[in-house]
Amino acid sequence: MSKSSNFFQIAIDGPVAAGKGTVSRLLAEKLNFLYVDTGAMYRAAALLAMQNNLSFDQEDEIASLIANSKLEMRNPEGDKEADGRLTTLILNGEDTSWAIRTIRCSDGASKVATLAKIRKILVEKQKKIAETQNVVMEGRDITFKVLPEADLKIFLTADLKIRAHRRHLQYLIKGIDKTLEEVIVEVKERDERDMSRQIDPLHPTADSWILDSSQLSIGEVVDSIVDKVQTMIEEKNGIHEKK
Ligand code: C5P
Repeated sequence: MSKSSNFFQIAIDGPVAAGKGTVSRLLAEKLNFLYVDTGAMYRAAALLAMQNNLSFDQEDEIASLIANSKLEMRNPEGDKEADGRLTTLILNGEDTSWAIRTIRCSDGASKVATLAKIRKILVEKQKKIAETQNVVMEGRDITFKVLPEADLKIFLTADLKIRAHRRHLQYLIKGIDKTLEEVIVEVKERDERDMSRQIDPLHPTADSWILDSSQLSIGEVVDSIVDKVQTMIEEKNGIHEKK
């Protein structure tokens, strides 16, 4: 199947806290691509539900709110946004980059992400973003739903305990008081919801590179992907030269 876009697309899927965000952000910086955090869009949908006192299963109401909202995603800019965020999300003119990171919003995002109408709207928005620029896009359905023709597909994963441990450390830094056991339960629940939902459940595709980061540092993961991309680009150029 020939790819409809001429832009280079890197699609990354994987379970909760596998390091997709940090890896994608660094990768995008090194390659000068746009980083697209699709989880932030599901989080925005959950935030809209919270702001409008809706429960996370009110599909039509939430879908209509998203359809009528302006959602802007971009790499962080200037000193004001150099506060540790991986991406900047402007929702209806308001910077909600941190408001979408609360525990309630994480839980809500994983619930609204099971709703067909919400997924349809957000997948369309994500496809559009990748039509006009080189992207590193990460989420739970990028390799098989959003960018099935991506140049490089990766399933980034790590052992449950290691992922929960990483998330627990992030919580400690943020001052969120949870035990490691509680975080293990939370991560497991969100994984199960993602992998068992009826629409587009999370799974590694046959053509994805399964990258297990359990024993690797973030830097090692990023370097191995950059090496692969450079080899792919060289091979592509080589083929063009032969023609
Ligand atoms: O990656 P992050 O944890 O920010 O994503 C929030 C939630 O959005 C996830 O728990 C997942 O349920 C959902 N999601 C999804 N499809 C994507 C990205 C995220 O279902 N492409």
